[in-house]
Amino acid sequence: MQRKMNEAELIDSFRDSLKNGDIYICLQPQINHLTKRMVGAEALIRWKHPVFGQQYPNDFIPVLERNNLIFEADLFVFRKVCELLRSLLDSHSVMVPISVNMSRYDIYHHDYVESIEAIRREYNVPAKYLRVELTESSAIGGIELVTGVLDSLHGYGYLVEMDDFGSGYSSLNILKDLNVDIIKLDMRFLSGEIGGRGAVIIESVVQMARWLKTIIIAEGVETMEQADYMKSIGCKYIQGYLYFKPLSVEDFRKELQENVHEPLKPALRLVETIDAGRFWDPDSLETLIFSNLVGGAAIFNFNIRSGKLDVLRINENYLQELGMNQSEEDIIHNDPWWCFGENAKEVYIKTIEKTISTREEASCETWRNISSKCCGDDKICVLSEMRSIGNADDDYLIYTRIRNITAEKRRYDEVFANDKKMMMAADQANVYAWEYTIATKEMRPCFRCMRDLGLPSLIENYPEPVIESGLFQPDYADEYRDWHRRIAEGEKSIEGIMPLTVGRVPFHVRYTTEFDENGRPLKAYGSATMVVGKSE
Ligand code: C2E
Ligand code: CA
Ligand code: CA
Repeated sequence: MQRKMNEAELIDSFRDSLKNGDIYICLQPQINHLTKRMVGAEALIRWKHPVFGQQYPNDFIPVLERNNLIFEADLFVFRKVCELLRSLLDSHSVMVPISVNMSRYDIYHHDYVESIEAIRREYNVPAKYLRVELTESSAIGGIELVTGVLDSLHGYGYLVEMDDFGSGYSSLNILKDLNVDIIKLDMRFLSGEIGGRGAVIIESVVQMARWLKTIIIAEGVETMEQADYMKSIGCKYIQGYLYFKPLSVEDFRKELQENVHEPLKPALRLVETIDAGRFWDPDSLETLIFSNLVGGAAIFNFNIRSGKLDVLRINENYLQELGMNQSEEDIIHNDPWWCFGENAKEVYIKTIEKTISTREEASCETWRNISSKCCGDDKICVLSEMRSIGNADDDYLIYTRIRNITAEKRRYDEVFANDKKMMMAADQANVYAWEYTIATKEMRPCFRCMRDLGLPSLIENYPEPVIESGLFQPDYADEYRDWHRRIAEGEKSIEGIMPLTVGRVPFHVRYTTEFDENGRPLKAYGSATMVVGKSE
């Protein structure tokens, strides 16, 4: 008669079931999604009643908790785990740490830590193979109580995990106050939830884990998409049906023998200044397209050893910037280099390598050949600003923002060509010429200025340095400064006679302002011609 047992039946048969093996444990491996190796396992309680059949923890745990029996159950699980670890040690097996669940009611048993510690010693298992999972709700009885338990667990050398993180209300505060070693982030709390909360959780966890240097294990991971998504935000440890359902002790032992294991490492090092969580849009956790707010953006995986580049995520704006009538899918499954020429590819890879080695943002401009069904072939110039946001072994996650700068580029080239003509003409006509960029206060002098006046090719914070050097005289300094202010305010041209250099040689100085297509002043072209036959 397979059915769910009622409360009385559960209480009634609990101790017998403990004794005769109807209550037992199974183990669910935790896997590194990158290497597919086992990094640990969680022990889960099972109850198969001889009459009523399989009972589910979600049904019977609350009953045990209400009836003050959970402490016994948890100690039983702990003992079974120690027994298993002991026999693995005895058979010189590969070892992985095993986590046990601690009910929040165990907190009220002040001897929980001492009790498990006694069992551990009885089996002589090193504490490094044991981890204790507690939930946010443990803090309900007051943070001090949990902190005490946590400290004594740490004191004995156990790692502590925060289970079901994100399921409660005050996740962030809890994390701040509790010094846990591992966060378990349950995908089931995140997926299917459209809107704010999923976003908040992902963002918080990534940020928190970053500054707390905490390991994250993603739990309840059922699909490759979820696992890849977690990996892309820097969480490579996975526990879930995607890799393993909870296994019997026997199956677990077999798996352990076959599967190479590895230690858990907080290997993800997200760059401090980047807010990785912000780039994601959990609204579409399934399609995994990130926020539209950031403009064109993509996340690549770059393997530094093989030089292989994989596209992990692309957002809508990315496609728009490239003017492509394609889907994220198309791009991801395409060769990422399809639109690059050899030269552009080399520039691009160099930039990726630069951001990896410097840990700073690096950018490059590359011309790409785009062809689309609707618009035919086109050549576009793309500014890519990239940053390495995480890595694991040889794999680096590269976050890239892109902007189509083809129009700007073409315009710049035109202006540049004009500039060159002007500079050359100036040189012939005995004119000193320079270009002043309003936004940056940069001045670029002509060749003659550099040759005759010894100016560098770029002067910053113009005109201060030339006032300081005495090229522009102190009594004209304020007037000359004022010219630059007027130019910045949009005056079309300014001119006047000024004595230049300590010799106070009179020059006719003029500026002509250049405006952008919105009528904002962009640059001013300055020139100075000697006033012949005139002196002060
Ligand atoms: P939990 O600690 O969050 O354990 C993970 C639960 O998720 C397990 O359910 C596991 O079988 C299930 N699970 C793992 N991967 C997936 C997946 O990919 N998809 C889905 N849908 N589920 C997955 P289980 O064993 O039924 O345990 C339920 C809960 O019962 C546990 O949640 C834990 O809170 C509690 N529990 C289990 N064993 C113990 C124990 O020994 N002591 C205490 N105090 N609580 C326990
Ligand atoms: Ca758990
Ligand atoms: Ca959990």
